[in-house]
Amino acid sequence: MIIKYYGVRGSLPTPGKETIKYGGNTTCLSIRAGGRQYIVDGGSGLRLLGNDLMPQAFGKGKGEAVFFWTHYHWDHLQGFPFFIPNFIPGNQFTHYGPPRLAEILKRQQEFITFPVEFDKMPSQHTFKEVKPGQSLSVDDLVVTSCAMSHPGGGNMYRFAQGARSFVLATDFEHSEDGWNQDVLKLCQGANLLIFDAQYTPEEYAQGRKTWGHSTWAKGIELAQTAGVRQLHFFHHDQMHSDRFLERKILAPARKLFPRAELAREGWEVTI
Ligand SMILES: [Zn+2]
Ligand SMILES: [Zn+2]
Repeated sequence: MIIKYYGVRGSLPTPGKETIKYGGNTTCLSIRAGGRQYIVDGGSGLRLLGNDLMPQAFGKGKGEAVFFWTHYHWDHLQGFPFFIPNFIPGNQFTHYGPPRLAEILKRQQEFITFPVEFDKMPSQHTFKEVKPGQSLSVDDLVVTSCAMSHPGGGNMYRFAQGARSFVLATDFEHSEDGWNQDVLKLCQGANLLIFDAQYTPEEYAQGRKTWGHSTWAKGIELAQTAGVRQLHFFHHDQMHSDRFLERKILAPARKLFPRAELAREGWEVTI
């Protein structure tokens, strides 16, 4: 599996010189596995992924991709109307996600909010609901979901191909009363955990409980408890500069978990 980060920011795109190293686009991941293109979430980073796909089959209307959607907050949807392969006749997309997926994507592209309505796009879209705890296969990729603790709910996913796997646990708030067994099971033995480390433990304690996000320290705790070797901090807060991420998140985290990394836009990771 080859994962590429196209958007690692949480909540809102943050262009500017203070975020240029780790990137300002919101959640979008590309996964290449078994010759197939998968896409997780359609934050503003999806625009760049669409541009990268255009020189290939997607530019000729012969592209096929499978989307997995975690939930429907703006920062995970807002790139979809700017995904150019949507506008090439013949391209086909299958969308897996929580309930109401088609309705929400169509609402984002009503004429009053975007000039091209969803149903007027010339590409083909198929929708399939994924329930928490469900496992499904696309070719040899096995995807397992787990309910995430986040306002409005949604799915976290484990992606596995043979013995290799990673978990995307973003927009996820830990419980103060120990780890949920479903979350532990999802993460158990994964090669990589991509974890919502939006806050420092100090920020979290200062009025950010119930906001639906977690901390780098909880990411380390989960990785160690579930036996995960590699940990990437993800969903960087819109207020955190590159300097802040390195000094206040990466530096203290590496003292406890040397293999911790900050997810960075444009970074390609092979599992
Ligand atoms: Zn988010
Ligand atoms: Zn969210």
